[in-house]
Parts: sequence; structure tokens; C-alpha cells
Amino acid sequence: MHAPDQRTRAIDGIVFDLDGTLVLGDRNNNGYELLPGSREVLAAARARGLPLVALTNGTVHIPEEYAANLRAAGLAFDGHEVMTPASVAADYLSRHGYKRVLVLGVSGVWRPLEVAGIEVILPLAPETGADAVLIGWHPDFNLRDLEAACKAVWAGARVFTTSNARFFATRDGPALGVSGAIATMIASVTGKRAVVLGKPSQHALACASRRLGVPIDRLAVVGDDPTLEVAMARKGGAYAVAVLTGLATEKSLAELPSGRRPHLVVRSVRDLLSSEVLARRVAS
Ligand SMILES: [Mg+2]
Repeated sequence: MHAPDQRTRAIDGIVFDLDGTLVLGDRNNNGYELLPGSREVLAAARARGLPLVALTNGTVHIPEEYAANLRAAGLAFDGHEVMTPASVAADYLSRHGYKRVLVLGVSGVWRPLEVAGIEVILPLAPETGADAVLIGWHPDFNLRDLEAACKAVWAGARVFTTSNARFFATRDGPALGVSGAIATMIASVTGKRAVVLGKPSQHALACASRRLGVPIDRLAVVGDDPTLEVAMARKGGAYAVAVLTGLATEKSLAELPSGRRPHLVVRSVRDLLSSEVLARRVAS
């Protein structure tokens, strides 16, 4: 019997980004266009018994709605195979004993919290008594929301954001990251910086690892954004795969410090079909 090769590691699960990796949506995340190879790579991963999850930083919809939209576009995802930062928030906030959360965002942000048994407060409520503030996709943001959030923070609530990303990839080009911009406004008023719960936070990676039942060092994380998926994977010790169908370019990846560079760069997820990732053992 041979000792396990120290220079390789097993891959027992895959975390896929959505926008710019498997699909391109429009700015409102309604219709999806499939990126090359996405259907085939999911089928191949399933045929090899690899559990997978799509982890988006979007909170426009709840996971079941994202899954339905993906199925309509031809990608076979079940609701439990899609995670959003609101799924991570529901998990994190309930594990840490938060009970009343002021939410700045659409139903895609607050419904997963309600399902987890957390009391959701919206900014129009006269008195919040919130122990946390959660910021997500919030296109109708106005000054009353900012005021309600700042008052809750002054009264002791911790502030969390689904994302701090400045942009995300759409077929119309980069779109604004709304929750990070709102978090910055709250920080400028209160001095309290929001804890990020979506990518690239380790909370998101740990949540995906628990969802799949696979330790982080046996996960491959596939994404188009060097500051999100690649950063999250490298920091946590997962295997990082960058695709060139979204925000990353070969040049931008080559310019990263070696510890933050992806382990593997592919033109699109189609190239994963012939890669060692689907063979389930990669050079470490
Ligand atoms: Mg992306």
C-alpha cells in the first residue's frame, strides 16, 4: 500500500459562484444566460458523486427562487443547493443568539431569517430594539433607512452586510454592489464597520462546508472574482479555481501576490471537464 501523496489532495465537493461563472444575469437577476460548459460540468460533477452548491452574493431572491430561475435557464439546481449571504446570515445570526434584526433589503434578504426563527424588523417600525442590522440588496434605499440603521447601531446593534463588493458581473457590464455602499454610509455616520457575511468572508465558506458536509480543505471553490471566491478560498485553505468569463482577467490574476493567486485558472467552467478537479484529486 502506498502512503497518500503529500503533494495532492482530494476534492469532495464544489462551491460554484453564479454570476460570471455559471451564468450571466441581467442587472436585476431575472433572466439567465448560461456560460460555456455550465450544464455539462454540473452533470459531470453529479455523475462523479461530487456534492455541489451555488453560493451567490446576490440577495435579490431567496435560494428557492434562484434555483427555479436556474432550472428555467437549463441548470439543474435544487433549492437546498443554492446559498445566498442571507442563508449565511440566518445561520450565523441564529448560532450567535441574535433575535431581533433590522433588515435593509428586499424579501430575498429577510425571508431566510424568518425561516430561521429570527424576528425581522423593517426600517419603518417606530421603535426597533434590534440587536443586529443586516444590509442586503436594497434598490429602494432612502434616508429613513439610513437613519433607522444608525439609531439601532447607536443603541448597541451590531451591523452586518451581505457583501462589500463594489461591482458584480452582469451581461450589461459591471453593476453596483448596493449593500457595501450602504454599509459604508452607516460606517461614516456611526464609526462601526459592518461584518461581511457573504463572500469573501470565512463565515460564508464555513457555512457552505457545513451545507455540503465536506471539510473546507477538500472543497474546490470556482469563481470569476479574485477579491471574492479566490480570496475566500485561499484564506480558508480550499482549492481556488478562477474562471475568465466574468471579472477576472489573466493579467489581473497574474498580478496577485502568490498566496492570493488561484491554484487553477480556466477560460470557462467547460475546461473543468478535462481537469483534475473532476478527477477528484488535485495537486496541492
Ligand atoms: Mg461572480
